[in-house]
Amino acid sequence: MTDLSHIRLTGRPLIISDVDDVILEFIEPYQRFLNARGLKFLPRSFRLTGNVVRVEDETPVSEDVVQKSLHDFFDEQHAWQTPFEHVMTALPALAEEADVVFLTAMPPKFTDKRRLLLDELGLHFPMVAVETAKGPIASMIRDRHTAPVVFVDDMAHNLASVAEHLPDCLLLSLAPPSAVHAMAPKPPQSARIVRDWADAAPIIRTHFGSRIGA
Ligand SMILES: [Mg+2]
Repeated sequence: MTDLSHIRLTGRPLIISDVDDVILEFIEPYQRFLNARGLKFLPRSFRLTGNVVRVEDETPVSEDVVQKSLHDFFDEQHAWQTPFEHVMTALPALAEEADVVFLTAMPPKFTDKRRLLLDELGLHFPMVAVETAKGPIASMIRDRHTAPVVFVDDMAHNLASVAEHLPDCLLLSLAPPSAVHAMAPKPPQSARIVRDWADAAPIIRTHFGSRIGA
């Protein structure tokens, strides 16, 4: 059972945000991390296994090696991951009028490493790491609060999962302009596609404003 006891909502509007490739750069530093290990990612399709190959002969590595590279990357994330442009200005400003919770798809054992990195950046918002569907967790995070809620993620399946469990949630599809994201499944129709947090912020404020007092 995912522990949500550290999350204290104030009843203000709520922003639930993914972390990788939404708050922190992921695909770009992960590719640099692979290169440092004699591997590279060939964005031939929307999957890692089969597309992570050895630099010298481009032979794909096994799923186990891919999984280990991901776990090692999360273990060393402090050395590789940096915030997305506009996050450090847009998010603290939004947090003046909203609660923020990070909902990250990452093995929970790396929670402390990610917490440290986010804290160093001044992003002290509570964080939950899950490997299960995000919709049920987002619903539990919101609990009985009725204030407007927004969910931001770069992955279609996460947006769809939250749409199912929080039907009144504003869904924002925010992803870096990477080759791999270009091949990703398209977000659900109900999601608005935004370029970055500077683009997202006024849309979030409008959603909050239009629902306050409703
Ligand atoms: Mg992500």
